Amino acid sequence: MAKDETKKRVFSGIQPSGIVHIGNYLGAIRNWVGMLQECDCIFCVVDLHAMTVQYDPERMQENVRETLTVNMAAGLDPEKCTLFVQSHVPEHTELTWILNTCASHADLARMTQFKDKSRRNRENINCGLFTYPILMAADILLYRAELVPVGEDQTQHLEFAREVCRTFNSRYGETFPEPKPRFGKVTRLMGLDGKAKMSKSMNNYLPLLAEPDEIVSLLRPAVTDPARVKRSDPGTPEICNIHTMHLGFSPPEDMAWCEQGCRTAGIGCVECKKRLADNMNEELKPMRERYNQYKKNPGYVNSVMEDGAKRCRELAEETMRTVRKKTGLR
Ligand code: SF4
Repeated sequence: MAKDETKKRVFSGIQPSGIVHIGNYLGAIRNWVGMLQECDCIFCVVDLHAMTVQYDPERMQENVRETLTVNMAAGLDPEKCTLFVQSHVPEHTELTWILNTCASHADLARMTQFKDKSRRNRENINCGLFTYPILMAADILLYRAELVPVGEDQTQHLEFAREVCRTFNSRYGETFPEPKPRFGKVTRLMGLDGKAKMSKSMNNYLPLLAEPDEIVSLLRPAVTDPARVKRSDPGTPEICNIHTMHLGFSPPEDMAWCEQGCRTAGIGCVECKKRLADNMNEELKPMRERYNQYKKNPGYVNSVMEDGAKRCRELAEETMRTVRKKTGLR
């Protein structure tokens, strides 16, 4: 479909983990869906970024495809945005090299995510892990994106991209708009174990496309307010992860029911979780249906990836023509 070039352009990357959970949905995807009408949104499955940690090459294609399909089912309608795979547009790596020469080593060394990931991947602290923010800057600048939806853990990387952008522009002349953060409604969801943020690597997640029975069985043992040992013990909903999930999926009257019932011990955690499961199922059901339709039509998913890569290659080539000229390469 033709995209409206007068709208502000938005870029965001999606990790090809193969698993999309409700934390991803509430923390990012739902905000992206809310931007589809207003902006020219480009979403990219970042397979090159995924190579910076241990991964299984045999499963890469399957994970890329699955991640894309689930995101489409979750509301990233290919008729309203551009979806593509990062490695299908080789200009990402070309611009990365050029931006390497505009990036400060000291700034990279300060990146919190690099420190965290290095601690967790001691046996594989590769250079890609260190220069990851430069590839991310290239992803954004290649499309001259003006807005980047960010969660709290990506603000440092975006600030780095803005610094690289300023350095390039001051060295070679105004070329890229400085991308700005777009903060959406932030829902920071803990995992079902209540110990860490919901994530695939911690195995504490609830899959976005879980069937109704699976939602119930995963919520059953989920950690709640520890003060509620017996049903007659009052609780504090604000410290309970189930309450956070209600905020994401339940209508106002159910929120009031949950908060009031929890504080006065008028409801038990079992019924609170049951109501949450019902509300969650209401929102996720159409996604499961769309997902099943997409799975039955792999040719359509292929055409989404191909159309997305075609549009992005054209945009990227236009940017690179300017960049090569300004940097004296051609
Ligand atoms: Fe959490 Fe609901 Fe139990 Fe309160 S009643 S502790 S909000 S599950």
